[in-house]
Amino acid sequence: MRRVGPPVVRLLDDDVESIRYSLASHLLYSVGKDPVNATARDWFMAAAYTVRDRVSERWMPTLNRYYDQDQKRVYYMSMEFLIGRTLSNAMISLGIYDQVKTAIEEMNLDFDEIVGWEVEAALGNGGLGRLAACLLDSMASLDVAGFGYGIRYDYGMFTQHVEHGWQVESPENWLRYGNPWEFPRPGVIYPVRFGGRVVHYKDVLGQTRAQWMDTEEVMAMAYDVPVPGYGGKTVNHLRLWSAKSTREFDLKYFNAGNYIEAVRDKNESETLSKVLYPSDITSRGKELRFKQEYFFVAASIQDILARFRKAHSDWNKLPERVAVQLNDTHPALVVAELMRVLVDEHHLEWNHAWDLTRRSCAYTNHTLLPEALETWPVDMFERILPRHLEIIFRINHEFLQEVRHRHPGDSDLLRRVSLVGEDGERRVRMAHLAVVGSHKVNGVAAIHTGLMKSTIFSDFEHLSPGKINNKTNGVTPRRWVLAANPGLSKLITEAVGEGWVTHLDRLKGLEKLADDKDFHARFAAVKRANKQHLAQVIGQRLGVDVSVDSLFDVQIKRIHEYKRQLLNVLHVVTRYARIRANPTVDVVPRTVIIGGKAAPGYILAKLIIKLINDVADVVNNDPLVGDKLKVVFVPNYNVSTAELVMPAAELSEQISTAGTEASGTGNMKMSMNGALTIGTWDGANVEICEEVGEDNMFLFGLTAQEVARRRIDGYDPQIAINANDELKRALDMIGSGYFSPDQTDRYRSLVEALTNGDTYLLTADYPLYIAAQERVDALYRDPDEWTRKAILNVARMGKFSSDRTVAEYARDIWGVATNN
Ligand SMILES: *Cc1c(COP(=O)(O)O)cnc(C)c1O
Repeated sequence: MRRVGPPVVRLLDDDVESIRYSLASHLLYSVGKDPVNATARDWFMAAAYTVRDRVSERWMPTLNRYYDQDQKRVYYMSMEFLIGRTLSNAMISLGIYDQVKTAIEEMNLDFDEIVGWEVEAALGNGGLGRLAACLLDSMASLDVAGFGYGIRYDYGMFTQHVEHGWQVESPENWLRYGNPWEFPRPGVIYPVRFGGRVVHYKDVLGQTRAQWMDTEEVMAMAYDVPVPGYGGKTVNHLRLWSAKSTREFDLKYFNAGNYIEAVRDKNESETLSKVLYPSDITSRGKELRFKQEYFFVAASIQDILARFRKAHSDWNKLPERVAVQLNDTHPALVVAELMRVLVDEHHLEWNHAWDLTRRSCAYTNHTLLPEALETWPVDMFERILPRHLEIIFRINHEFLQEVRHRHPGDSDLLRRVSLVGEDGERRVRMAHLAVVGSHKVNGVAAIHTGLMKSTIFSDFEHLSPGKINNKTNGVTPRRWVLAANPGLSKLITEAVGEGWVTHLDRLKGLEKLADDKDFHARFAAVKRANKQHLAQVIGQRLGVDVSVDSLFDVQIKRIHEYKRQLLNVLHVVTRYARIRANPTVDVVPRTVIIGGKAAPGYILAKLIIKLINDVADVVNNDPLVGDKLKVVFVPNYNVSTAELVMPAAELSEQISTAGTEASGTGNMKMSMNGALTIGTWDGANVEICEEVGEDNMFLFGLTAQEVARRRIDGYDPQIAINANDELKRALDMIGSGYFSPDQTDRYRSLVEALTNGDTYLLTADYPLYIAAQERVDALYRDPDEWTRKAILNVARMGKFSSDRTVAEYARDIWGVATNN
C-alpha cells in the first residue's frame, strides 16, 4: 500500500493573526533570528517560509489526487525557466496577499523592502524561458497535471552592469543566500552516463541486443520548486536537476591514494549544472552544452518512466498517460533516449518502442533563423553518446526508407529531410530528429507556423500534412497584470468583476467604457502613477531626470540585430537632429527607454548597447533639447525590471524584421498594460492587430513576403539611403563620431553593416518607421483619443492569456482536460 498514514491535512490558517504567528516562528526557528537583530532579508526568508508552508499544504493533496485518479501527466521539458521572483506571486495565487502584507506591516516592517530582497530565479535567457514559466503557471491554474523539467544552474543568467556605456557581465550567484522555494530531494537521484562504447550480442533467445558500457557517470539530483496555480486548488512543481559526482567515480582515485585528483574529478562532473549558456537562440558546437542537454533529458526520462511504472505494467499505456513537450530542440535527445531505454533496457521491439515514443512526444519550434537551428557534429556525438548515435542512424534509415518508397527517385528530397546533414562536416540535425520523433509539431504564432510550413519544414509538411500546427503564445495575466499593475487591476475588477484573472476574455467588458469620461480619467491616472513610479526609479538609480509628461516609448528585450534596436536608435537620432535644426519647434516630448542583455560573445550587440548609451549621453545633456527628448538605457533587464517597466509603457516597440520574430511575448505584456504598439507585421503583432484593430496600433513596414522577395532579388541599401536625407544624416552622425568624440571610428563597423548588405533591412523600413512615429506623435497630442485606444488594447487582449495557449495544447496535443 502506498499511503499508510492519514492524508495530509491543513494545519495552518490564513488569517492575519495566524500568519503573524508563522512569521515570528519562522524568524526564530528557521532563520535563527529574533526581531531585535533581524535584517530585512531575514524577514524576507521568514515570509517566504510562511507562504511556502501554505503552498506545501496544497501541493501534497494535488499529487495524491493525480495519483489516485491516474491522471495523464504533461511534462514540459525546457533548458530554461525564467521564473522571476516568487513571493508576491505565490501570495496572490493562494489568495493570502492582503493578509501577509497586513501581518508584515502590523509589525512595523516595510513590505516592499522585504519583497525587494528576493533574488529572482533567472534560469533562462529571454522569451523561450519566460514562456515556459507562463505555461507552468497556466497549467497549474487550469488544474492540468503539468510538470516542468529543467536544470538547476548554480549560475543563472548573468547580471548586466553598464560601465562607461559598455555592458559588463557578472556571474549571478543566485543561490548564495539559499533558495527558500526549493525542496532538495537527495533520495531522487539518477545516474547519467557518457562516453564508452557499444557492444552488440545475441541474448539467450537469439535476439540481437546492444549494451552501452565503459561509460563515465554523473548523478542527477532533483530539486523541486512548487508551482501554485491561481486559486490555490492545484500546486504542481518544476523539477530541476543538479549534477553530483558519483561515489564510484571518486573511489577509483581514492583507492589509488590520490585524494586531490578525486576531488578535482568530483568538481568536474559537477560543472554540468554550473552555468546557463547566456546566448539567446545560438549555442553552437559547445560540448558542455550538448552534455547539459543529455544530462537533463536522461534524468527526466528515468524519473518519468519510474512514475509511470509505479502505476502501470503495460507499456501500451505510455502515450495515454504521458505527454512530453519539447521546448525547442534542446531536449530533442528525448526521442533517442526513450528509444534506448525501451529497446535496450526493457527489451521492447523496435517498432513498438517507436510507436510509443512518437505518440508521447511533441515539439515546439521557436525560431526560423538558420544560425539558431541546432546541429551536432557526428564525431562529437559518437564520442559522447555512441549508442544514441546508432539509434538515430537507425531512425533515419527507416524514415528515409519510407520516404524513398513514397517518393521513388527523389534523392534530393532524401538529402533535405535526412536527420544527418552531409554537406561539409556530417552533423545531426536536432530539429529533424524532433519532427520525426513527434506526433505534433507546433509554431508559436500563426505567421511563424505558416512560415515553418512554407520554409524550413516544407518537406515535412508534405510528408505528414496536419502534423505541424499553431499554438500562439500567451502570457499569464496573474504576473503581468494582476501582480505587476495593481492600479489597473483594481480598475478592471471594478468594471468587469474579478473573473478576468482566469477568464481574460472578460476584459471585453471594458470596451463599453472606452468613451466613458470618468473611466478615461481613472485609466489615465493609473498610467500616470505607473510612469511616476518608473521615473522615480530611473532618477534614483540612473540619475536621469525624466518628465512624466513625456511619452514613454519602450523597447525592452534581448539585444539582437533581428530585433532592430538600431532602427530605434536611428529614429532617436533623427528626432534629435530635427530638434537641433529647429530648437523652437513644438514637438511631443519623448522618453525613449531601452533595455536588454547582449550575449557576452555577441560583439555587435554589445556595440549597440554602447551606442544607445553614447546617444543618451549627448541627447540628455544637450541644453537645446531639454525635456523634448530623453534616452534611458535600463540596465540588467530581467523579470523584475519587466514588471516595473511594462505598466509604465505607453508605446511598445516591436520592430523586428518581418519573418524573424517567431511570436514575441513582450508585445503582449505591454499591450495588456495599456500601451499602444508600434510594430512590424511580424510574430504575434499580426494577431494582436486582428484582435485590437489596425486603428489602435501603428503597424508599418515590409511584410515577411516582401522581405523574402527583396532578399531573393538582392537588396541594395544604398538606394534607400540615397533617397532619404534624414537617414543619410543619421548614419553620418553615428558613423563619423558625433556621439563618440573620444573615438570617432567606434561605430564605423556598425554603419558599414547597414550600408553594405543590411541583412535585416533597416534602411528599407526606416522611412515607414519614421512616418509611423509621426502618427504616434499626432495621436499623443489628443490625450482622449490616445486613452481610448489604450483602453481598447486592454479590452481586446483576452486571447493572449497563456491560459488560452495551454487549453489549446491540452486539447490538440496532450489530450488532457482543462478546468476552465
Ligand atoms: C517577456 C520577456 C522577454 C521576451 O520579450 P520579447 O519582447 O518577446 O523578446 C524577455 N525577457 C524577459 C525578462 C521577459 O519578461
